[in-house]
Amino acid sequence: MNKRLSDTHQPLNLIYLDANATTQVLPQAASAALSTMETFFGNPSSSHVTGLQAKQIVDKTRQQAKRIVGTDEGKIIFTSGATEGIQTAILSALVNAKKTLNCNENYSLLYGATEHKAVPESLKHWNEVLELNAEIVAIPVNEKGQLDMEFIAKEVPNALMICTMAVNNETGVYQDISLLDQTIRANNPKVAWMVDCVQALGKTDLSLGQTTIDYAPFSGHKLYAPKGIGFMYVKENAPFTPFIAGGGQESGLRSGTENLPGLAALSVIFTMLLDENESNFTSVENLHSFRQQIVLALTQAFPEVVFNHSFENSVPTTINFAIPGLSSKEIMDLFDSANIRVSSGSACSSKITRSFVLDAMGLPAWQSESAIRMSFGPAMTQSEIDSACSRIVFAAQALERSCLIIDKNTIDTTTIENKAKAELNGLVQFKVGASCSWLYIDQKTKSAVFIDPLPELTDRLHTLLTCRGLELIAVIDTHSHADHISCRQNIAQSQLAEQQTNSLGWPADAKLTTINGHEYPYITLGDKWLINIATPGHTNDSISLVLCEPIKDSSDKLRVHYTFCGDLILMNSLGRTNFSNSSAAAMYSSLQLLTALIGTKSLLCPSHDYNNEFTSRIETEMARNSLLTQVINDEINAEEFSRQKIAMDKKIMNKPDREIMCGALIAACQEFMVREYTSASLAKAVKASTNMKLIDIREPHEYALQHDKKFTFNVPLTRLVHFVKNQQQKEQELVFVCRSGSRSQLAAQALARLGFNNVGHLKGGYALHQY
Ligand code: PLP
Repeated sequence: MNKRLSDTHQPLNLIYLDANATTQVLPQAASAALSTMETFFGNPSSSHVTGLQAKQIVDKTRQQAKRIVGTDEGKIIFTSGATEGIQTAILSALVNAKKTLNCNENYSLLYGATEHKAVPESLKHWNEVLELNAEIVAIPVNEKGQLDMEFIAKEVPNALMICTMAVNNETGVYQDISLLDQTIRANNPKVAWMVDCVQALGKTDLSLGQTTIDYAPFSGHKLYAPKGIGFMYVKENAPFTPFIAGGGQESGLRSGTENLPGLAALSVIFTMLLDENESNFTSVENLHSFRQQIVLALTQAFPEVVFNHSFENSVPTTINFAIPGLSSKEIMDLFDSANIRVSSGSACSSKITRSFVLDAMGLPAWQSESAIRMSFGPAMTQSEIDSACSRIVFAAQALERSCLIIDKNTIDTTTIENKAKAELNGLVQFKVGASCSWLYIDQKTKSAVFIDPLPELTDRLHTLLTCRGLELIAVIDTHSHADHISCRQNIAQSQLAEQQTNSLGWPADAKLTTINGHEYPYITLGDKWLINIATPGHTNDSISLVLCEPIKDSSDKLRVHYTFCGDLILMNSLGRTNFSNSSAAAMYSSLQLLTALIGTKSLLCPSHDYNNEFTSRIETEMARNSLLTQVINDEINAEEFSRQKIAMDKKIMNKPDREIMCGALIAACQEFMVREYTSASLAKAVKASTNMKLIDIREPHEYALQHDKKFTFNVPLTRLVHFVKNQQQKEQELVFVCRSGSRSQLAAQALARLGFNNVGHLKGGYALHQY
């Protein structure tokens, strides 16, 4: 039998594959740093023995740095890191260029389109500060990430500076430095040239002395030295302006007392690079073999994986890839659970959800949006690579178990059914931005209905249905959506080609039932009914779909499970009624009709969730929506409702870069009281409590990889509404946990808003607490 990752009862040691963001400090480097703090702590400028000992460390490191960058000439200046080196280079080049500017000429500042943001941002900054008015121009790259030499040849004659990089931080793509040298100098012998060498250190040979590069910044923390130490190479006679003036250290080129601990650590790293016998570093051949092994593991685990760069022209320590159907956030969460650290795009700009580097290389949008970077350094070991590879395979198995991917080797459904899949029955909520799709599964009859299908979910739905052997019996829109395209027809074509429906996907062969003397069509889903109630208003074709127990007697009250109300009632809002096919008066009647049918306590599943509230009830909405209350209580008529609705819709804020809002928010979202635990306070509370429920709110594949399941329940956010429906005791203490404390906080807040009065979460999540 296959061993699962969670079967090993040991906490997993960390596999760190994010070296391009930063590295751990090697023990030898850390101990050298410590000894300069405890023993050789002198100021290198002091002339006593302690000072001389300190100075010797600085001198030795400088000599080593010259050998590392491959030069006998020029200067090595120690800095706080590469960003400072980049400033110094740009300031030096531009101050010098300013002296000879001709006001009738147009000048440019060139930089590679895939450069680290520190470069274009610094160019912009100093261009403004020095009032140069030069045009800042990105040099395009081809699909392999290589700079366009023809462009450089054409543009460089007018350039005041050109900035390129040796190795890219997202892809590991390296540039042909000698070809660049020829191209630049053939067209502008004097232009200042900076090469960002941060990601090249320890990964490629450098012979800067044989080039005409003027400035080359480096950073210590990308190669096992601490943060806060870096250095730069400056060519002999290259223009120079100190970026930091003061006590005259570094021959006056960079003032400030030297970072001796950082320098001592850097010196240890240099020794390892220069002397194989002193080294913890593996050979370049091994690094290539490590890459091959990881690539193989990724390909076995995710046969559809796409690599975002060519391995021919990239250093072996960076692998950038995307997996169709999985977002980079999902992959990061998955790998984090397997205790593998990777990054999406560039860590330095992790808020951005797409990669400008991959965009510049012209890769398809989905590859750029779902890119994952794995990077390691020369201290990587074979055993870490072995662990990484087996965990990648385990992680993929966890995804297969929760049907986010299909095991391609067992595509025939009989084997799929035989493979243990995590149970999935009832309601699943999918979200894309603030829009929701709802899938209801009846496990017994293996049938499902998909409501308000979003195009981004088409492949995911297909995978889920195939993997679980489910039959889709209907795919229905609650109205014709104005803010996004429905993928209903696509899904219907592939899953329900024979089915006759109306324009929203409602099956033509639905039966009729009578409620309160009126007839409504319904379809059967397992042992439940899905009733179609026309609720026009937001649009004239709007419907609400009520999932309920079968009606045995027409005088029965509906026993409702969920109401999919589209944009009729949104959380903290009512659907807008200012489209050409809207009618506020019709919405007034719809609100009254729906409330009469479903009551105020059953769960609403709208097609938007602008504030991560997941679900609501009419009574919960009435507490903050006085207009809705007045309608339900019959305190205003349709005319007055329409008047107030016009005023409300005027408040809809459609920001140009955001999706269309389908309703105006009524009130600022209230924060609810939820307990915030640390691991210590939670351990105490668990001991004291008799009925606390500890809920891991991560997705099942993340939960499956958790080695020690103290949080015994797993309720992924996609199943929160299903959980709310089935959690009868509102007083029971519920405590949520996730990776970083953000999903757990959302879940706790949502439940508190729905009247669960004893909820809490582990603040900071597993990332901060070993609970
Ligand atoms: N240049 C490149 C290519 C980088 O990868 C980084 C850091 O990610 C920097 C510059 C900035 O380096 P530092 O953190 O030392 O300022």
